[in-house]
Amino acid sequence: MTVLRLPGAIDGHVHGRDPGYPEKEDFASLSAAARAGGVTTVLDMPNNVPAPDTGEALTLKAAFVAERAGVNYGLWGLLRSSSTSDQLRGLAEAGAIGFKAYLGYAYRFSARTVTYTPGGSADEDLEPPPSYETLDRLGPALASLGLPVAVHAEDPAILREAARPVGSYADLLESRPAEAEATAIRRCAEVARRHGFRLHVVHVASALGVGEVRRARAADTPLTAETCPQYLWLCDADFERAGPWMKMYPLIRTASDREAVRAALLDGVIDTVGTDHAPHTAAEKDRPLEAAHAGSPGVQWLYVAALEFARRFGGDALLAVRWVAERPAEIFGVSPNGWVEIDDAAVTVAGDGALSRQPRSALDGLEFGFRVLRVDAPPAGRWVRPTG
Ligand SMILES: [Zn+2]
Repeated sequence: MTVLRLPGAIDGHVHGRDPGYPEKEDFASLSAAARAGGVTTVLDMPNNVPAPDTGEALTLKAAFVAERAGVNYGLWGLLRSSSTSDQLRGLAEAGAIGFKAYLGYAYRFSARTVTYTPGGSADEDLEPPPSYETLDRLGPALASLGLPVAVHAEDPAILREAARPVGSYADLLESRPAEAEATAIRRCAEVARRHGFRLHVVHVASALGVGEVRRARAADTPLTAETCPQYLWLCDADFERAGPWMKMYPLIRTASDREAVRAALLDGVIDTVGTDHAPHTAAEKDRPLEAAHAGSPGVQWLYVAALEFARRFGGDALLAVRWVAERPAEIFGVSPNGWVEIDDAAVTVAGDGALSRQPRSALDGLEFGFRVLRVDAPPAGRWVRPTG
C-alpha cells in the first residue's frame, strides 16, 4: 500500500440546497460529505432560494453559507432570461465563480428560484427560461467579464417533442433523446464562438454530446467541459439495481454513450470531473420513475471514483488529480484547499458511511480501490472568488 498525498479536490458542480431546501441538504451536511471524500472546495449552483441573480443576492447567500461551511466554497450566479449586463457585472464584482444558465428551467417569481418547465407555460408567475437568444444578447457582457458560462445543455424544444408517458427506463431514454444534449451544445458553442465568451458545458453524458464538444473545440470555441462519475461508471443496465435513485438530468444512457464519455475524458476533450451532487428527500426519490425527482448525491465519492477510473482505464491513478483539482483550479481561478491522504490499496464502497442528508446515491454499491485517510485543510470553509 502507498499513501498518496494529493491536493484537495475542487468539485465544480454541487447543489448544496442552502438556503432553501434544508430537508434535502444544507452546507453543514454537504461539507461533512465533501470533506470525508477529500473534496475541500465546492462550487455551488444557484438554484437555491432565493437564487443569487444579482450581486446583492450573491453576497447574502455567501453570508448565510459562511456559518455552516466546513469546506471552501465558490458560488455560481444565476443567468435569467431577464438578466441585464449590469446584473451580470454586479454578480462578477460580488465574486461569482461564473454564470449558470438553465435551458428549460423557468424562474418562478413567487418562489424566487428556478423550476423545471420543459413544456413551457402561460403561468404569469413564470419567467421563461434563458435561451440561445439570451446568451446572444448578453454575449458582449459575458465576453468582457471573462467568467465561465455554465449551461445545462438539453434543448427544450427537442425534449418537448419527445415527451411521452414514462413507465420504464427505456421510455425515459426515449423521452430525453441524446440529440437534445448535442443540439444545445452546438447552439451554445456557436454563440460563445461569435462573442468570445467562455462556455463551460456541465455534465456531458452522451456520445452525441461528446461529438459536439469535439467539433466545437476543433473550431477553436472557448469551451471547457465536465462529466460526472455516474456517466463514467453507470449505464442504463444499472437501473435494475438503482431504480429511480439513478434518475438524473441529463440521463445516464447506454454503454456506448459511457464509452464515448470515457474516451473523451482520457484524451482531454473533457476537462473536469464534477459530481452534480443533487440530493432530494427519500419521499421525492422513492416514487414511480415518472414522478421521482431528478438528481443524486455524489460529492463524497468523487475522488475515489476518479482515481479508480484513472487507474483502471488510463493506466495511472494520478491522472485523476488533473480532473478533480488542477483543471478546475485553472478554469475557475481558485487554488486547491489543503491536502488529502489516500490509501491506494483499501476499498471504499459507495454508500457506506454516507454523510449527505440524503445518504443514498446512484453510485451505491460500487467499489473503488482507494480510501481517504486524512484531510489536511482548515475546519472552517472560506468563500473563494476567482483570481482571474
Ligand atoms: Zn446540476
